[in-house]
Amino acid sequence: MAEEKKYTARCMRCKTNRDVKDPELVEIRKGVWAVKGKCAVCGCKVYKIVGKKK
Ligand SMILES: [Zn+2]
Repeated sequence: MAEEKKYTARCMRCKTNRDVKDPELVEIRKGVWAVKGKCAVCGCKVYKIVGKKK
């Protein structure tokens, strides 16, 4: 089973939630994770805090 998680984030340019292309998990603070990627529609950078990871 391929483990490809889908994320959505609010795109500033589209002003709506879009699928995140090339999502990358980054730890922005200890125990706090965010997803960085690109808007699947316009290619703009999107960013979303996904919370704590176990
Ligand atoms: Zn967009």
